[in-house]
Amino acid sequence: MSRDETRTLIQEVVDKLKKETFSNEFTNNENGEVFDSAAEIIKTTDKIIKSYIRVSRDNGVIERIPAYRVQHNNISGFYKGGIRFSPAVNEEEVENLAILMTIKNALHELPFGGAKGGVFVDPRNLSPRELNLVSKKYVQRLKPDLGPTKDIPAPDLGTNDKVIDWMVGEYKTITPGESYVNSFTGKSAVNGGVAGRREATGIGTFLSYYYLRDQWFKQAKTMKVTRPKSWKNLETLIHSDQPTRVAVQGFGNVGSIAANEALKCEDEHIVTAVSDEDVTLHNRKGLDIERLLAYSEQHRRLPRSAEELKEANVQADIDSPSAVLTSECDLLILAAVEGQITEENMKDVSAKILLEGANAPITKNADEYFENNGIIVIPDILANAGGVHVSYLEWMQSNNDKPYTKEDVITALTDKMTDVCHRVYDHYFYSENHETTRMLCYKLALMRLITLLYRHGKLY
Ligand code: NAD
Repeated sequence: MSRDETRTLIQEVVDKLKKETFSNEFTNNENGEVFDSAAEIIKTTDKIIKSYIRVSRDNGVIERIPAYRVQHNNISGFYKGGIRFSPAVNEEEVENLAILMTIKNALHELPFGGAKGGVFVDPRNLSPRELNLVSKKYVQRLKPDLGPTKDIPAPDLGTNDKVIDWMVGEYKTITPGESYVNSFTGKSAVNGGVAGRREATGIGTFLSYYYLRDQWFKQAKTMKVTRPKSWKNLETLIHSDQPTRVAVQGFGNVGSIAANEALKCEDEHIVTAVSDEDVTLHNRKGLDIERLLAYSEQHRRLPRSAEELKEANVQADIDSPSAVLTSECDLLILAAVEGQITEENMKDVSAKILLEGANAPITKNADEYFENNGIIVIPDILANAGGVHVSYLEWMQSNNDKPYTKEDVITALTDKMTDVCHRVYDHYFYSENHETTRMLCYKLALMRLITLLYRHGKLY
């Protein structure tokens, strides 16, 4: 979904809420001005910062690289959102991702607002010195707007705990005497990070699907409900005696962990395709994910030739990067970038469940098409919140006498994600309206945001 599509969806949902009057607080609001005011606020952004950071490349050339921080809304708490390093970064994309953070944090009832950052750079083309410089310069330039009680970034596409550690180090250097521990989340454990943060988004993404199939659906199927079209597909999948075939676009942090989670479920799943920017690898009988993880840990990408597959000791057919989207599968995990499934390729998708580990990989029209055709989409703001749930624990950890163990973190993540998923699936399957899962998630999030805005006196 693009930024404009996100805004359109916000308006559509607020218009629905206006008619439904979900809270007694708004019963005298006959002209709907509370809702019109809320839509105006949520569709617009508090602050957009664009700057050019100066980086001296190893060849002696100076480059000025566009860098962004977008602070969308902080009615729920301090601004919070990742920083991505990618050659696709632009202002519209970063703003859209910041809006999604506000909605996601509201849906998951986390005490954070929404923000996002980005640097227009391909980290694969930077030497370690250049990467370090870009990270430090980003903090130097954005410093007045960042901080543990203002705006707390985290890793995202193309960044990781190493980059975040450098950023914390720079923040500490340029703000002597100020508190810095909670200036960023997604730090390494030795630098105040929390165990399990790296895996959290991938684990949470898979959980949002597996909870539906393994727990919610099983306890719900004896109840009388008007079922959305997707019910039949889910039932067929669960009752099949064949393993569920999983395809994963993006074998980075989120996608590789989600693929690994799929294989932990005994014989229920096989991963038949994985991809990255360069390649799709297929194997109808199931790929050896453990070996692909080992290979990609070492090379930071998948094998992309017969020789490299041999080196990885993996049996697979090689195809183009986009082939993963239309490969024969039951569950398609989208864990790469935005705008991957559009009106152009939606009819070629064979999966019956689409799981958004990435932000905004499906356009609005494609989303509606899938709902009308009985294909469930588990949307980004529901599925990929594991990272921000665990970031919240990291943020809280500095008040603890001893750090959380990985077990504490995974238990808390599972409990929180399960609660939110349960609420969403109850609304989705038991509602007579048959709205898309995404619309339902927006509804729940916007009900919270509108109430907070109203209580804070912002809608007068
Ligand atoms: P990553 O950099 O670790 O991995 C990204 C993967 O996607 C890589 O395998 C890369 O090769 C592949 N990729 C990039 N561009 C592609 C393209 N155009 N086509 C196909 N594959 C492509 O990033 P990540 O942290 O795993 O993030 C992936 C997605 O998940 C992003 O959309 C990010 O915003 C979202 N997300 C991440 C987190 C987190 O905690 N890391 C949290 C929430 C959402």
